[in-house]
Amino acid sequence: MHIDKLSFEDTMSFISSSVGALLVVDGSTDRYKSIIRRGIFEDYISETGTYNDLIAKLWFHFNNSSESITEDYHVFIPTTGKFIGKYSRRINISVNDTTHVVQMTIYPMNDNCYLFILDELDKSQYREESLTNKKVTTIQNTYLFSMYVDLVKDTTDSISISEISDETTNVQLKYSEWRLMIVNMIYPDDQPLFLERSDPEYLRKHLAPGQTSSFDCLMMNLEGKYIWVKLIFSRSETNNDDDFRFVYMVQNIHDEAVELMSTLKKYEDLASKDPLTNIFNHGRIETELCNAIRQFKKNGEPVSAIMLDIDFFKNVNDTYGHSIGDTTIVQFTNIVNSFFKDKNVAFGRWGGEEFVAVCYGMNGDEAQNSAEELRALIAGKSFTKVGSITCSIGTTCIRSDDSFRSAFERLDKALYSAKASGRNCVRSL
Ligand code: GH3
Ligand code: MG
Ligand code: MG
Repeated sequence: MHIDKLSFEDTMSFISSSVGALLVVDGSTDRYKSIIRRGIFEDYISETGTYNDLIAKLWFHFNNSSESITEDYHVFIPTTGKFIGKYSRRINISVNDTTHVVQMTIYPMNDNCYLFILDELDKSQYREESLTNKKVTTIQNTYLFSMYVDLVKDTTDSISISEISDETTNVQLKYSEWRLMIVNMIYPDDQPLFLERSDPEYLRKHLAPGQTSSFDCLMMNLEGKYIWVKLIFSRSETNNDDDFRFVYMVQNIHDEAVELMSTLKKYEDLASKDPLTNIFNHGRIETELCNAIRQFKKNGEPVSAIMLDIDFFKNVNDTYGHSIGDTTIVQFTNIVNSFFKDKNVAFGRWGGEEFVAVCYGMNGDEAQNSAEELRALIAGKSFTKVGSITCSIGTTCIRSDDSFRSAFERLDKALYSAKASGRNCVRSL
């Protein structure tokens, strides 16, 4: 082929037969349209779609090493804003679990319209880049995003990790706009906190030069899944009182946060459970009853309490020994637990062979009926070595003038009355 003989049309037709995908995008109507699609792009990109969706699929830092494109990449990206100038970079995209390296070039047309050209590269074309990409991956997995904020100029500037990444973000966005855009990615419950802490007035007032403040919240990643992130605002060192420049950074703390929460949960469980039976301990069930009384006063939903005491348990110990006594207590607990399994009931060991159940949504009659059912269930069971045992039960329904003390006294009296009536029965007060 002689290059001198190639016309403009020849060159254009060559491009159109070899380019992987060519799309036109209208940023103002949030739409794109495919002009050319071939190879992997046929599956990956639709005939038409929304711009946001395209950006979500294509934006930089996509998967390099991990199994799925989105799983390990919690990329934080501004999905609106304006490109300025041409833009080109290599991205990794994953189609059906296979990673493809794609060169992406964006040409701004006019009126918010852009031309996207995408080409898949074969392995030899990008091998030399993989080392750099891995480093970038590592850093970006922790620091998802960072930018400079100037409150006086109301500007944001993305920061690239310039030594090891060639990316430039070319996005111009006012801080005030950015904030209102980003708040939608924050978990709804955390949004008020985000708005408070990212408020320019708040930042001016609370952060001295050089000072950093941060808070943790849930933020949506590209998969639409909420992950734990740390949002960090750090004010630049300055002697000028009118200088309000900040570095803002989003750090992915999801794995640590999840681990921390499970550790905390473990400690909370330890602190609130009875070691022998693994049900709530005295302290926790007392808290539960107090909370239930408060809740009842607030919303009027009935709450009842049931107290159980095994009859003549001293005999069990005296006859079979303490260890069998323990086994009996555990068996007893398991029976009661599975009886309450599908009900909204907090069940705990009050001490020794005495138990308390806080029954949400149960009125006095329902509690009494449940207790009677439970009493019969226990009496009909055969316990290891010990055979049959019985229990006495007191029940009471929480009243609007109750305190913990008054409710508990009534409950205790009801139980005492069951004991006094010959045991293996239910009494309600
Ligand atoms: P009743 O309630 O019917 O009046 O008679 P009781 O024999 O059950 O009552 P009492 O309060 O006199 O005795 C309770 C016994 O429970 C005393 C104690 O030895 C036993 N006990 C308390 N805690 C435990 C425990 O953790 N393990 C074992 N094995 N026994 C326990
Ligand atoms: Mg007893
Ligand atoms: Mg007792």
